[in-house]
Amino acid sequence: MKNRVTELLGIRYPIVQGGMQWVGRAELAAAVSNAGGLGTLGALTQPTPEDLAREIERCRTMTDQPFGVNVTMLPTVNPPPYERIFDVILAQGIRVVETAGNVPKAVFQRLHAAGVVIVHKCTSVRHALAAEKRGVDIVSIDGFECAGHPGEEDVPGLVLIPAAASALRVPVIASGGIADGRGMAAALSLGAEGVNMGTRFVATREAPVHEDVKQALIAARENDTRLIMRTLRNSSRVLLNPVSEEVLELERRPGGAAFEVLRPLVNGQRGRAALESGDTRNGLIWAGMVAGLIDDIPSCGELIERMVGQCRARLAAAAVLVAG
Ligand code: NAD
Repeated sequence: MKNRVTELLGIRYPIVQGGMQWVGRAELAAAVSNAGGLGTLGALTQPTPEDLAREIERCRTMTDQPFGVNVTMLPTVNPPPYERIFDVILAQGIRVVETAGNVPKAVFQRLHAAGVVIVHKCTSVRHALAAEKRGVDIVSIDGFECAGHPGEEDVPGLVLIPAAASALRVPVIASGGIADGRGMAAALSLGAEGVNMGTRFVATREAPVHEDVKQALIAARENDTRLIMRTLRNSSRVLLNPVSEEVLELERRPGGAAFEVLRPLVNGQRGRAALESGDTRNGLIWAGMVAGLIDDIPSCGELIERMVGQCRARLAAAAVLVAG
């Protein structure tokens, strides 16, 4: 499969693994890159920029294929040392950076000056156009179905992907709502030139999370996610569990709940502990609606080969409709 996305990212298939917090580690990123997609390390998963440098080096011992680093700039409990994180990314010669959130113009300029390809994630056409103006190379457009932060405008991929593809000149990667070759074929038909998947890659053999987290994704249906922190305008899609229910309960109270009240429930360290221990009822498990489409735990290689085969079959089946 060759198009602008595969060319810019130096990959065989236009399939990108989102740089998920606590999950985007070397084991997963290397497996995705070895399978022909783009694996991504999550910069904020590492406690310090020095640890990020070591993780990049560890990833390089597991793959000789390109991989990227995600840097998310959203509200955090402990603001990360972004300047030093970018120092490490550049010093390590990383060629692809996935950015998300409120990224200062100077960051884009610095990455570009070093020849880095920037994939910017956003959740509205308005923000995508602003990012294009600032020179990002690819926009990863994140529909309402997605895990994590879908923004506040609630436009699902079926509308958002073609709207972005029509408005932008740079290539679009479709993110949110994709878990198999059917979703990939649909995204390509809507005008995207690649797909980004997060939740689907959590339920793979190489994902560095407890087996019970993978089983929880298999058990979940498409209506088993919840949007929390909407009252703070920091909406976040997570699995339905006692913690997300408690957050919603607090938010529903008259006057809502200040972040400080929600913090013991939502903080990342608690979610990390749940991912590592498999106690999926005791911390936030970030997941998209595609949890309802996941029913096995393949290797990344099996997943990507199966997706590409299914995508090709779907596109070929659709081509029959225009043959006559
Ligand atoms: P954290 O412990 O810093 O924060 C936990 C959650 O609370 C996050 O959703 C964060 O956005 C939110 N938050 C923190 N401070 C806030 C404030 N003052 N007001 C409102 N909301 C606030 O987060 P973490 O789990 O260690 O993750 C680190 C970063 O990665 C955060 O910015 C988080 O949003 C981001 N993240 C992104 C995704 C995604 O889908 N892109 C998924 C998980 C985490």
